[in-house]
Parts: sequence; C-alpha cells; structure tokens
Amino acid sequence: MTARIIDGKAVAKKLRAEYKNRIAQLVAAKGVTPGLAVILVGHNPASQLYVSNKVRACADVGIRSERIEMAADVSEQVLLAEIDRLNADPTVHGILVQLPLPAHIEVRQVLERISVAKDVDGFHLYNVGGLLTGSTVFPPCTPYGVQKLLEHENVQIAGRNVCVVGASNIVGKPVAMMLMQQDATVSICHKLTRDLAMFTLLADILVVAAGVPNLIVPQMVRTGAVVIDVGINRLPDGRLVGDVDFEGVRKKASLISPVPGGVGPMTVTMLLFNTLRSAERTVGIEEAAPGL
Ligand code: NAD
Repeated sequence: MTARIIDGKAVAKKLRAEYKNRIAQLVAAKGVTPGLAVILVGHNPASQLYVSNKVRACADVGIRSERIEMAADVSEQVLLAEIDRLNADPTVHGILVQLPLPAHIEVRQVLERISVAKDVDGFHLYNVGGLLTGSTVFPPCTPYGVQKLLEHENVQIAGRNVCVVGASNIVGKPVAMMLMQQDATVSICHKLTRDLAMFTLLADILVVAAGVPNLIVPQMVRTGAVVIDVGINRLPDGRLVGDVDFEGVRKKASLISPVPGGVGPMTVTMLLFNTLRSAERTVGIEEAAPGL
C-alpha cells in the first residue's frame, strides 16, 4: 500500500479563498470588517516571524490586523491594560498574545484576561474546558487544523481508534478531546508511555505531535492507517522534518500528511477562520465549530 499524501497547502488555499469570500460578504452586507490584534512582547526572532506571517495572511483574506509590539521588560499590568483596551474595542474581533512571554509575566493571567468572545487562539480556560463538553467557542488553531484536514479528506472519525502521540496543552490534549467529542476511541501517549508501539499499532488514525524526528517508524503503524504528522523539527543539516519516518510510513498508511506542507499551513488558516467567526458572531451569525 502507498499512502495518498494530504496536500495541506492546497486545502489551506481553498479554505482561505472561501473565507475571503465570506469576509467580503460580511463587509458588504453588515459593514463589519473582521479585526485581529496581535500582541508581541520582546524580540524573539521566531515569534516575530510567526506574527509577520499571521499579519500577511490576514491582509490576504481581508482581515484588518493590528500588530502591537511591547518591550521585553513591559510590566504585566501594562500588558493586561492593553488587553482590556482591546477587549473593549468593537473593531477588534480577535486578540492573540504571541507565546512565549518573558519569564516575569504570568502566562495564565494574560490568557484569562482575553475576552472569551475574542479568544481566537482558543487558549482561555473557558474554551479549553469547552473542548470536554463540546461547547468551545474557538477551538485552538493547530488541533482545529488537524480536524479540518481529516474532514476535508472525508476520514470517518466516529467509532475509529485514534492514538495521539504527545500530550501538550496546545496540540496533543486538545486534538484528543476534539476527536473523542466526535466519538472516536482515543488513547493519548507521552514521553513516559511504556511500549508506544502497543498503542500506535491499534490506531486507525494516528496523530503525532511530540517534536521528535523519526519517532514513528513503519513497524509502529497499522496497515491502512491515516497518519497526521504535526511535528516540526529542524535537523542539523537544515532540513525540516516531522515526527514520522515519512518515506517508510507512507508505504504502509492509506493517507499521510507531509512536513512541511501538511498541518503547518492549516494553523494560521484556522486563526483566520476563528477571527471571521468571531466577527460574524457580533452580527448574530453563529456557526458552531462543527462537531466540537
Ligand atoms: P511539547 O514539547 O509541548 O509537547 C510534546 C509532547 O510530546 C509531550 O506531551 C511529551 O510527553 C511528548 N513526547 C516527547 N517525546 C516523546 C516520545 N519519545 N514518545 C512519546 N511522546 C513524547 O510540544 P508541542 O508544543 O505539543 O509541539 C509538538 C510538535 O508539534 C513540535 O514539533 C512542534 O514544533 C509541532 N507544532 C506544530 C505546529 C504546526 O502548526 N504544525 C503547531 C504547534 C506545534
């Protein structure tokens, strides 16, 4: 068996075109332009790059974005006051604080300060908790991207065995909750899991988000499985790879996402979608995050 390769770039492009149309309709019918505020604290080069990508992606689909830069030694109070200002600004529909934050700032305080209605990153405890009950307003972007890829590829989720490798708050746990909410049987593995292969081999759908190159090799994959690789690792020779031995596993899986070009392009796409949905909610258009 040779797996079909999921073209995350193409899916992201198609979705962004749809969102662009929906945004144009919202502007024309209701006079509302979705707005995203991105707060960047300090000068972390990776964070600056991520923020620039988000700002550019917003411009491409017609979302107004505001980039707010703060010095690395900004006080928590000043940062919280800025979030309060953005919470109260009706032209801002989404607020995102780029992580990581400097050590003197308590991340939870900051994330909890963002209005639930503008929490387009999905990190507020209300949205996190909502994943358990199916009532989240904004699912977190990377797990939501995984979900959209599976949806786009018509992968059946209900009744299937899912194994999620990686149990972080931003990827592993939420993706597991989202798939469990859709009636999959889910196991969550992490770095202390004994005999990882025992779990991965049971999986009809294997989602890997560990940050370890070549963690998943063909002997750990069930024939015909769907394999989603969330990992992004930079090798010493400069190559970007995921957590899955792509060349080996693609001979055994039925569907596989590559790195780069799989889940990566979906993350920012879902941020755009959450911001669009947030703006639509302000004029009474409510589309629940499907199945979540
Ligand atoms: P993290 O370091 O916070 O969590 C890693 C998780 O993997 C932990 O639960 C850990 O226990 C588990 N793990 C580590 N080694 C393992 C092993 N040998 N066996 C089993 N489990 C193991 O990382 P994260 O933020 O969740 O990110 C995971 C990966 O996904 C990283 O490579 C990251 O770069 C990537 N990522 C990609 C996107 C995207 O947009 N595509 C977004 C976020 C993260």
